[in-house]
Amino acid sequence: MITAKTKILGLIGYPATYSLSPIMHNAAFKQLGLDYVYLVFPAESNDLRKAMEGLKAIKFAGANVTIPYKEVIMDYLDEISKEARLIGAVNTIKNIEGKLYGYNTDGFGFIESLKKQIGIFLKGKKVFMLGAGGAAKAVALSLALEEVSEIVIVDKFKKKAMDLSDYLEKNIDCKSVAIRIEDVKIGKKISNADIIVNATPVGMKKEDPLLIDVKYLREDQIIYDLIYTPQETLLLKEARRLKLKAINGLEMLLYQGAKSFNIWTERDAPIEIMRKALSKELE
Ligand code: NAP
Repeated sequence: MITAKTKILGLIGYPATYSLSPIMHNAAFKQLGLDYVYLVFPAESNDLRKAMEGLKAIKFAGANVTIPYKEVIMDYLDEISKEARLIGAVNTIKNIEGKLYGYNTDGFGFIESLKKQIGIFLKGKKVFMLGAGGAAKAVALSLALEEVSEIVIVDKFKKKAMDLSDYLEKNIDCKSVAIRIEDVKIGKKISNADIIVNATPVGMKKEDPLLIDVKYLREDQIIYDLIYTPQETLLLKEARRLKLKAINGLEMLLYQGAKSFNIWTERDAPIEIMRKALSKELE
């Protein structure tokens, strides 16, 4: 029940017309009997400063941040965690006595889901990653912090992959190679990888092609597709057909949410309840 004491959390983004976060978090608050409510707040970019001042003024407990504000929001925060600073993006804010603290839980969500699903020890593993955008950066930096031995970054344009690859080498001392999607070396890089990650939106639409030739895949590889709608992309279908371990983006969404929940409430998140709420909504 919402009372005068209910603490307010919300998602700030634009247009933010669709999000699974309210369903996941409100189910968790209900399960643990916590007096919080999670809503969605679409804020146009001209209003972002006012929205952030409003967070403080009316004493919001905190927020999540989504597209297109994960980077620009950093200008409005009082303190930013080391990890979020390294990733260059914030997706979680906590209001502590009028000061706004920023965190990034996306990378944690990816790593935790991988460990929980596969039980993998990441140190020394080779990673092949499609995409060099916002999600790719969080994933690549977190993998680099886990001391994987190499991250191959693939993009339509070499420049974008190069920028991320250079950033990884300079900031975390992680070996990284940038290649273009049409590069002839791509087959060898796919075959050499232990983990293959799709961090592009390719696969969300029915007509989307496969970005890699499955003839290069091996049975002992892990395929992680960050997409969760649909829950099974063409890439994951192929991975399952070829008996590879396959993970979709729902688990990353779940664990990034669990970490945000923990930051706000200082309680462990009820993972099973949150997973059930997500799956039910996506059915
Ligand atoms: P983004 O910033 O737009 O980045 C997408 C990247 O993919 C860009 O580098 C883009 O390159 C590249 N790309 C697009 N089409 C490509 C192609 N045909 N070949 C090679 N590279 C291509 O998007 P994002 O925010 O990182 O999100 C990426 C995906 O991850 C989305 O599907 C999103 O839903 C998902 N995601 C999932 C979670 C989760 O919790 N599971 C969290 C965040 C994101 P250009 O810029 O050159 O086009």
